[in-house]
Amino acid sequence: MPGKTQVPAVEGWFTLDADRPALLGSKCRTCGIVCFPRETSFCRNPACASREFDEIELSRTGTIWSFTDNRYQPPPPYVSPDPFEPYAIAAVELADEQMVVLGQLVPGTDITQLRAGQPVELVLGTLFSDDEHEYLVWKWQPIDDGTTAGATR
Ligand SMILES: [Zn+2]
Repeated sequence: MPGKTQVPAVEGWFTLDADRPALLGSKCRTCGIVCFPRETSFCRNPACASREFDEIELSRTGTIWSFTDNRYQPPPPYVSPDPFEPYAIAAVELADEQMVVLGQLVPGTDITQLRAGQPVELVLGTLFSDDEHEYLVWKWQPIDDGTTAGATR
């Protein structure tokens, strides 16, 4: 997309590192609980009164916990490409944090080939674009079993 500026569709939820994008979470300085999206006001641990958090990058890989495909255009405020293109979404359990994060699968993912436990890697993809900008979100890209994501591109 020459000439278009790439911007995050949601501010502060992930890094824009083209090679190694990562979700941004928060880690409580007192109890160590990790949250995504970032917590900035109160710790979600009911037993913890901390209001101080460190920003951390979450695991870039995980395993599929469940998935589905969406063949119907979501209502506003969801912004869809026109014409609407069906996409698959997955709930992915992050490798280290073991928290589940929803995201679209990369375009062209054949969900008949997916299964629970399938390893995936975080990549950036376009959610939608206008004349000047490409709005990016994280997407899950299936990776082969037994291989770690090395130099894939
Ligand atoms: Zn805490």
